[in-house]
Amino acid sequence: MAVTTRASGAPPLPAHPDAQLDAVLGSKLPHELSYALGGPFHLLMPDRFDTNSTAFKHELTEAGVQGQVYYAKKANKAAVWMDRCAVSGTGVDVASAGELRDALGHGVRGEDVVVTGPAKAEGLLRVAVLHGCLIAVDALDELERVIDQAQAAARPARVLLRRLPPAQPHSRFGLDDRELTSALARCAEAGDAVVMEGFSFHLSGYDTQARGELAAELIDLCLKARVLGLRADRISIGGGFAVDYTAAEHWERFLREQGPHDYHAGKSFTASDFYPYHSPAPGPAALRAILTTDGLAGRLREAGVMLLLEPGRALLDRAGCTVFRVQGVKDRPGYGIVTVDGSSLSLSEQWFNSEYLPDPVLLPAEATPGEPYAACVGGATCLESDMVTWRKVRFRARPAVGDLLVYPNTAGYQMDSNESPFHELPLPRKVVLDTAGGTTRWRFDRPPLA
Ligand SMILES: *Cc1c(COP(=O)(O)O)cnc(C)c1O
Repeated sequence: MAVTTRASGAPPLPAHPDAQLDAVLGSKLPHELSYALGGPFHLLMPDRFDTNSTAFKHELTEAGVQGQVYYAKKANKAAVWMDRCAVSGTGVDVASAGELRDALGHGVRGEDVVVTGPAKAEGLLRVAVLHGCLIAVDALDELERVIDQAQAAARPARVLLRRLPPAQPHSRFGLDDRELTSALARCAEAGDAVVMEGFSFHLSGYDTQARGELAAELIDLCLKARVLGLRADRISIGGGFAVDYTAAEHWERFLREQGPHDYHAGKSFTASDFYPYHSPAPGPAALRAILTTDGLAGRLREAGVMLLLEPGRALLDRAGCTVFRVQGVKDRPGYGIVTVDGSSLSLSEQWFNSEYLPDPVLLPAEATPGEPYAACVGGATCLESDMVTWRKVRFRARPAVGDLLVYPNTAGYQMDSNESPFHELPLPRKVVLDTAGGTTRWRFDRPPLA
């Protein structure tokens, strides 16, 4: 009997229902696009990005706190997010010259860009200074190079000093206490070359309490820095606002029941290998929790300190999905192996010894009744390890060649951070769904390279 249970596949983990996406998936469009493009593709829903950034800004307004939201660009490379940021006045967090060029090229103003990342390249610092971007300084030698660039350009550099989180002392990012003291003295001494605007941090994990507490500490640092004659009127709390992919009941059941028998080749994962796919206080609600930690909002107001934040994943929540075409199906004892027309490089979670867990949705080419069928999903490459999904997903029926497989909510980090033209497979195109005027129309995110 146990064999029968196992053959039914891993516990289901459906993404939250999404009527707007369902309407698109229920139309002819996905199959038409798959046919036209001849490979997998990503669908982008920029309306959702706007809704998400508005919701973050709303939390700041509600709390009576001045602030700025910066989209952490590394979470997804599409152009459409830059267009939306430029129009809505949302900032962008960049960490390379290419990212900065893209943001500026799409009309994001330099003053609305924050530059993060370690030991920033000379060319990045130069353009950042010339465009009046805010630079989160990560090390003392970097501060010297920023001052050199400011002097060469005869323009002040706007800087934040990035704090090494005391609770994450092994982080390779940020300045420790002694380095911060030196950096503050150096900023004061640099005179007009530097406008020291405040401090920043970025924590791994999703703990709102830890963010609230460290933010309060940075407010105190601002007050100390002002004694040295520095401006110090803003702090950045970085990113790490959780995304809620699935309902609590599904998530809890999955964690309770999943085991090696649920995965192809008996692969095993422990709960800590997975992103926390359910969050009771995701995105803007996490910001609210941070702002209420020990009365943080009031402390920001009293000190005249602005709150900057750099969400990546949370701004992309439900703003995209990834569509593969089924290219082959074969049976193994108790389950099947579906092979799709792309690779796991287009679902990045698979490359961090983890698994992207929201269930892929099957869009049959023809509605054929059948028995439920459990299958893992492999990529069209020659690597054993190229599994788009290791677990045995419970499908309504045995997938067939020509069906589509849609991975929901992949805009945040899944789509393009690891993509490569491995095996000379084409990179999935990004298709934007525009809804202006009440109709849904599609277009490519970027024109093909000239
Ligand atoms: C990656 C990163 C972010 C975004 O993190 P999310 O978890 O996507 O919100 C923000 N700031 C910095 C400095 C980062 O490195």
